[in-house]
Amino acid sequence: MSDLSDFPGGLHLNDQKSLSNQSLIQPGPLPDRLWVPLQQHIGTPAEPVVQPGDAVGKGQLIARATDTISAAVHAPASGTLQAIADYPIAHTSGLPAPCLVIQTDGQDIRADLPPPIRNYYDTDPDILRERIRWAGIVGLGGALFPTSVKAQPACAVHTLIINAVECEPYITCDDRLMREQAADLISGVEIMRTLIRPERTLIGIEDNKPEALAALQVALAGHPQIALRSVPTRYPSGGERQLIRVLTDLSVPSGGLPSDIGVLCQNVATCVAVADAVLRGQPLITRIVTLTGRGVVRPGNYRTLIGTRLDALIEHVGGYTADAQRLVLGGPMMGVSLAHDQVPITKGSNCFIVGTADELPEPPPAQPCIRCGACVPVCPANLLPQQLYWHARARDLEKTQAYHLFDCIECGCCAQVCPAQIPLVDYYRHAKAEIVSAQREQVKADRARERHEARQQRLVRQKAERQAKMRRKQEALQKQSNLADDPQQAVIAAAVARVAARKAPPDGTE
Ligand code: SF4
Ligand code: SF4
Repeated sequence: MSDLSDFPGGLHLNDQKSLSNQSLIQPGPLPDRLWVPLQQHIGTPAEPVVQPGDAVGKGQLIARATDTISAAVHAPASGTLQAIADYPIAHTSGLPAPCLVIQTDGQDIRADLPPPIRNYYDTDPDILRERIRWAGIVGLGGALFPTSVKAQPACAVHTLIINAVECEPYITCDDRLMREQAADLISGVEIMRTLIRPERTLIGIEDNKPEALAALQVALAGHPQIALRSVPTRYPSGGERQLIRVLTDLSVPSGGLPSDIGVLCQNVATCVAVADAVLRGQPLITRIVTLTGRGVVRPGNYRTLIGTRLDALIEHVGGYTADAQRLVLGGPMMGVSLAHDQVPITKGSNCFIVGTADELPEPPPAQPCIRCGACVPVCPANLLPQQLYWHARARDLEKTQAYHLFDCIECGCCAQVCPAQIPLVDYYRHAKAEIVSAQREQVKADRARERHEARQQRLVRQKAERQAKMRRKQEALQKQSNLADDPQQAVIAAAVARVAARKAPPDGTE
């Protein structure tokens, strides 16, 4: 009997993975210029530590983490820092973001890097976490959360889950990584285990990756504490909550985090990056990118320098085919369309699809919702997608939250089956962004109000102090004037003063 559980909803999709997973990971190009964004992670942007005109070595720290929730950035190649300037990045907003622009020299001159830590199991965990932080490692499965923070959980973690599922169609970078670097992956998992000390460690992998599964089985010899679990292929089994449910039968509470139930998830590429940082002293300066779709000449997986522009990578793989039509960052279910290819590859760029018109047709115009309910049974988060849609469309943000909008993982299953072709996920994303923005505004307004109230209180206090001082002064003046006006009072006051002086102890004796 299987010891796996199940999650609701989901879809069986044509995975299209063989387009890109048939060949070894290939090196990407060394472009003349790299655009390295300062923010490639969740949290505060990194802060440059180099100036335009500075020479930089490969792997040199060029921007430091500014906060706990931040990530360092390193030079992916040697060369000269040309500028720190805004540049378009791969994001739905299409807005530019600050980038460090490096003119590469083609020399591949390495910076001084820290020494390997081979005996990590005997090393102070804080030293290991500091190495992971130095390396600028973030969740490479898409979460982009700084890994050094995850490696120091606030609550006890009983189960560490390594997410090797890669369930979205077309994407195969983790699949190839596991086939080719399974031993590195297991080293990274052991380092994470050293830091987190879970009771059990489970690797979950979909059963449509037999080669990767076999490679992991070999690499796991001698690691009895790590269990490998093959999970049935069904999208989105790689969603964090869905995988936790399948592997442990535990459910993350609505609005909660896996850590609330003692579970921590880590992506396979992140574990390999951890192994590179600890065992080799290498910062995160490359990532494996799946470049796929029938619109590129040689789809495959490419180890690409962070900051390489997508057009340079596409040129490197033979360019576009004649019928290339659409460009998508990410997979076809959760990805976002890109308007052009002049965007840099970042730590989070796991996949780009160049689709033909047949492959990734432009979405047809949406029709009104016919309340068919087809979107409900496919939702893996047990939500009511059509209700969310109605409220998001009406911009009734309170209602969207009452219907647990933030439990939506934006998997796109509902939109995939919607006969009215409504871009449901766009509505959810928009509503989430509005709520987050309103919350930020509220926090700002609250802070401004607190500052205003504190200032008002200070002014009132200062005024009261001034008035009291004035009153004391007036009373003293009044007293003096009373004495001057009444000679009898003046005589009495002088007598009282003389008696007091006689009674007072001589100087120095008390
Ligand atoms: S599947 Fe589409 S048309 Fe049907 S209820 Fe859901 S949103 Fe409405
Ligand atoms: S996108 Fe959100 S609402 Fe739609 S099926 Fe996925 S989790 Fe459910």
